[in-house]
Amino acid sequence: MSDCVFCKMVQGEIKPTVLAETDRVLAFRDINPQAPTHVLVIPKQHLASLNDLSSQHADLIGELYQVAQRVAAQEGIAERGYRTVINCGLEGGQEVHHLHLHVLGGRQMRWPPG
Ligand code: 5GP
Ligand code: ZN
Repeated sequence: MSDCVFCKMVQGEIKPTVLAETDRVLAFRDINPQAPTHVLVIPKQHLASLNDLSSQHADLIGELYQVAQRVAAQEGIAERGYRTVINCGLEGGQEVHHLHLHVLGGRQMRWPPG
């Protein structure tokens, strides 16, 4: 996906602040943080949204959450707690159409989210 900002990060065209990387997953700081820790965890493969997952992606989605867990530990928020969010589609508030998991922490989260 040549016009996808997150694919450009995977390809090294745009250089985010990377916190963790595996063969299949990249984690980097959000450019517009909504909490003291705000990290995005993405599959390197372009998948537009959660709607594009199928059973063949079961390992991949597991790895996304494992990397999220590792990032939370690195950031020192694992014990205090944190939130993971995947926005999907228009009403889900998804703005970048490359699947990503938000990891938010370092402050008290509110519920329900807006
Ligand atoms: P969404 O609303 O799609 O769930 O979240 C997209 C997220 O991507 C937003 O939190 C936004 O700040 C972040 N974002 C958009 N463009 C960039 C960018 O170029 N670099 C980084 N690091 N984050 C971005
Ligand atoms: Zn992409």
